[in-house]
Amino acid sequence: MNIIFATAEVSPFAKTGGLGDVCGALPKALAKLGHDVVVFTPYYRQAREWFARRGESPEAVADMSIRWAGWSSPMTLLRAMLPDSDVPVYFIANDYFFDRDGIYDGTLDFHDDQVERYTFFCRGIISACGSLGLNVDVVHSHDWHSALLPVYLHSGLRGDSSFQRAASVYTIHNLNYQGRYGFERFRALGLHSFYSSQHALEYFGDINLMKGGIIFADQVTTVSPTYAREIQTAEFGAGLDGILRQHSYKLSGILNGIDIDEWDPETDPHLPSPFSAVDLKGKANCKKALRKEAGFDTRSKAPLISLISRFVPQKGLEIFLGAIPSLLQTGSQIIVLGTGDAHYEDAFRAAEAAAPKQFRSWIKFDPVLAHRIIAGSDLLLMPSLYEPCGLNQMYALRYGTLPVVRLTGGLADTVIPYDGSNAGVATGFGFHSTDPRDLYLTTWLGAMQMKDAAVWRQLQQNGMAADFSWEHSAREYERVYSRALGV
Ligand code: ADP
Repeated sequence: MNIIFATAEVSPFAKTGGLGDVCGALPKALAKLGHDVVVFTPYYRQAREWFARRGESPEAVADMSIRWAGWSSPMTLLRAMLPDSDVPVYFIANDYFFDRDGIYDGTLDFHDDQVERYTFFCRGIISACGSLGLNVDVVHSHDWHSALLPVYLHSGLRGDSSFQRAASVYTIHNLNYQGRYGFERFRALGLHSFYSSQHALEYFGDINLMKGGIIFADQVTTVSPTYAREIQTAEFGAGLDGILRQHSYKLSGILNGIDIDEWDPETDPHLPSPFSAVDLKGKANCKKALRKEAGFDTRSKAPLISLISRFVPQKGLEIFLGAIPSLLQTGSQIIVLGTGDAHYEDAFRAAEAAAPKQFRSWIKFDPVLAHRIIAGSDLLLMPSLYEPCGLNQMYALRYGTLPVVRLTGGLADTVIPYDGSNAGVATGFGFHSTDPRDLYLTTWLGAMQMKDAAVWRQLQQNGMAADFSWEHSAREYERVYSRALGV
């Protein structure tokens, strides 16, 4: 299939989170399955700086003018390759729109022009495909920034011939950013008034671009099967649950993959000792080194429990804070790594001050330390209130660290909770409520299993055998593309 990705972020050029990781990895995995994949993304200042740091610059391919709805803006099309692949990335360049301090910096001269920026981006892609002579089968767009593409295709804006038979797939990575703007911005989209109705982009008197993507794409996905179900409820739907219920016939969830080369305990250069599912001895060394680094007693029999997270309410940190006193009572050693809301940073610093021999709070962003923590811990806590997919639990599973998770979203899809009778398949521990007592009890019961070395090892090995590769995800996207094309 000829597939194009339209995305506001691509790792390693410019990213703020999971969207960039997915769009940096999935195209490569699809290409390995034999598809022709081309990625389109804005040429932000961050991307320019990425090339500049390497003394490189992308190749200029074409200059053109993008015209719509009374607008006319110049566009330069630049070309590079996704690193370690032969997947082309085309950058849509226009310094007025994209040469700004932050990727999502939508304010210039006090005027918020996010709608215009990403309208230009989507229209630029359609023109670029025409100029490149691409024959597109599937347009895969992501989050609100490229949600207009399925709408444009539906409206008949299909380039000269590039999109004649193209189907559209729309992936929601973060339902909470919907591209909602004042209704007066509708004119900037250059769409027929048909699309201004409540059956299209209108949303409580505003326009909502994500809503348009959901309605007009041939298939809609999100990043885990459980989250795909949850977002159809008022609790998780961020106001779009009704629209998602209406379109559930074309909605599915596909788990993100992880970089299994970067996160491989047998070859991880950041660990004091490598280890594997068959030989876990190195993991004991990692644990000892981590305890030493944290200033904890290295001979203690107590479990070593960790949490690595952005410090935001989504991550269930109130639940965790409520469980800390009881966990400390059991003698557990606890490590926290993260940054974010001052309220949480202060609370973790206070917990460390109160129990310095058992609690360590590393308030920083440190990816290498994250590797050491995940390798050296017995248990990794993820009590998230909601979690579209989640990565840390998958890293933990690969490193024989048993996750303790709130069974929501991707956490429910990747961790099989141990219940005393399913040691053959279980990979961690889980709970449902938001009561700190349940997190505490589940963690305590989990830690108790360490006393039964055979069961513990079995659970570790079950998790280490799980397949979280991008190849696995790519095969599922292939099926969604086929459904979108009706083949
Ligand atoms: P989210 O994308 O919502 O933050 P995920 O679990 O999907 O949550 O991904 C978080 C990623 O960021 C993981 O790779 C995690 O290890 C990493 N991470 C988060 N905070 C830190 C930190 N302070 N230091 C290092 N890595 C971090």
